[in-house]
Amino acid sequence: MKSGELTKKEIIVGIDLGTTHSLVAYLDKGNPIMIKESHGSNTLVPSVVHIDEDGSVVVGDEAKARLITQPERTIYSVKRLLGKSYSDMSAYSKDLAYELIDEEDKMIKIKVDDRFYSPIELSGEILKYLKNRIERVTGQEILKAVITVPAYFDDNQRQATRDAGKLAGLDVLRIINEPTAASLSYGLNSKDKDETIAVYDLGGGTFDITILQMHEGVFDVLSTNGDTFLGGDDIDNLIIEHWCKSLNITENQLAENLQLKSSIRLKAEEAKKHLSYNDYYGKQDDEFYLDLETFNGLIEGLIETTIDKCKEAVKDAEIEKSEIDKVVFVGGSTRIPLIKKNVQSYFEAEAFDDLNPDEVVAMGAAIQADILAGNNEDFLLLDVTPLSLGIETLGGLMDVIIPRNTKIPHAAGRNYTTSVDGQTNLKVAVYQGERDLVSDNRKLGEFILKNIPPMPAGIPKIEVQFILDADGIMRVRAKELRSETETEIQINATHGISEEEMGRMLLDSIQNAEKDMKVKAILEARNEAKAIVRSSYKFIDQNKAWLSEVELSGLNAHIKTLENEIEKGDKDSINKAMHDMNTFSSPLAQKAMDEVIKSALKGKTLE
Ligand code: ADP
Ligand code: MG
Repeated sequence: MKSGELTKKEIIVGIDLGTTHSLVAYLDKGNPIMIKESHGSNTLVPSVVHIDEDGSVVVGDEAKARLITQPERTIYSVKRLLGKSYSDMSAYSKDLAYELIDEEDKMIKIKVDDRFYSPIELSGEILKYLKNRIERVTGQEILKAVITVPAYFDDNQRQATRDAGKLAGLDVLRIINEPTAASLSYGLNSKDKDETIAVYDLGGGTFDITILQMHEGVFDVLSTNGDTFLGGDDIDNLIIEHWCKSLNITENQLAENLQLKSSIRLKAEEAKKHLSYNDYYGKQDDEFYLDLETFNGLIEGLIETTIDKCKEAVKDAEIEKSEIDKVVFVGGSTRIPLIKKNVQSYFEAEAFDDLNPDEVVAMGAAIQADILAGNNEDFLLLDVTPLSLGIETLGGLMDVIIPRNTKIPHAAGRNYTTSVDGQTNLKVAVYQGERDLVSDNRKLGEFILKNIPPMPAGIPKIEVQFILDADGIMRVRAKELRSETETEIQINATHGISEEEMGRMLLDSIQNAEKDMKVKAILEARNEAKAIVRSSYKFIDQNKAWLSEVELSGLNAHIKTLENEIEKGDKDSINKAMHDMNTFSSPLAQKAMDEVIKSALKGKTLE
């Protein structure tokens, strides 16, 4: 074969899917190329998705431009919602200018007009945009990617990220931690260095601190800590609060006026950035004035919170703070001088900040992609899991099977037994988190080991094994050792796309993934709607004694609509009908509860 006539080598890209900005990069013969649309344009794509009246989607700068004019249909910071349920987010949702659907423990949906979107779909749109962007620039089809996540992302959030990639038509070869990626970028030219570094990453929505050792090309993560709800957005909110207080704008006024809310938010961000290089923002008698001293006062507490996390990370790494040679600064918010100053003075180490803090993560992802493509054998990455994994045992206690900061991939198991004579089923509920009671941790899923041969309590020997892959995503296997009864599951995040289903979709062809998801989404919506219809009939039956004629006919009308939608509707119209039904019926449910209480009290007085 003559050189130059080979088919083009497949490019595997690295993607930083950020809360605020996303970007894509790849390595060309060892050189990182950060993709931008055209000469002079930006490598950063705002992680903003705008949805037009006709349902068409706009991503990036064009979407960001509509944040003020059409806040209710312009979705920002969607990464914060990935893998989260409404109840996780209810405190935060008031800060948003778009609408979340309150379905308690179900995965969040975002409502725009009569359409409903999951954060996975919206993140998928951002990834699709990046995929198109790099395809346009390289003239090559891109099918494989490495995507980064905050080190502190839990299993649900990692899976949601991977699923978003699949929706965008990307085979996600690896999910890697952002700080680890950043350290790869710094290691690029320093294979022979032998040092311990702290990566401090404060972006738009998340904070991560990672301590790692670089030794002859091996990146050994010692510990990681952080907060998935701490970042530049929160700094903006501190400024907003400050201004609202001085201008007497109440929370209600803000909530009712979305345009006001969006414009103050953008102004606050502008002020914050300006103060990274200047002592004042605006003029002293401007409404929106801010000086550096006031600003520093506002953010001191937030910086202190991040330093507390740094202390925990140092402790978990089992090293002395003085052993840390360098602090690597990552993320746009580390441009704030006070942050750099305070963090550096805590670590008393040299700052590593000569790479663009916006780009180091994507660059690192591209390096990891290059390693996976087999082009680079000089580096090896040893990452850790950020949170402990365990199962629920008697009394709702968390029994940790894999402690946090364990190197991944990793497998570990433990034996359990039954507590009742003749017990044939055993429920295994899997949790992630550091608290002693499972109710304080995040539930990842549960399954039942069935067909255990009946034996006296305590005799069966049930091995529960956790298998954690290099993405930090877990499978669980349970086996009764005497009978070899076995069950295995991929811990299926509550967003309800199982690994099997995903695998099938991939096999079917990556291009079909989107269609498959649509089919699945409609099946899910139908099932949910059917359940609502059933429970509504039951509700009418149990409460007909006090339901008024209007209430009764209203309920029946909604049931009819739902039944109709189940028959003929699509995902969005079914979701809308369910939403309408919920809106109509929740005051009735409240009333039903009052009735129950009333009749209970009545019973008492009779006694
Ligand atoms: P993410 O990884 O979460 O997308 P980035 O690393 O892109 O975040 O950082 C975005 C955050 O950095 C935003 O909150 C933005 O306002 C903030 N930021 C960007 N530039 C500056 C600056 N010069 N001074 C202060 N904050 C900045
Ligand atoms: Mg980032």
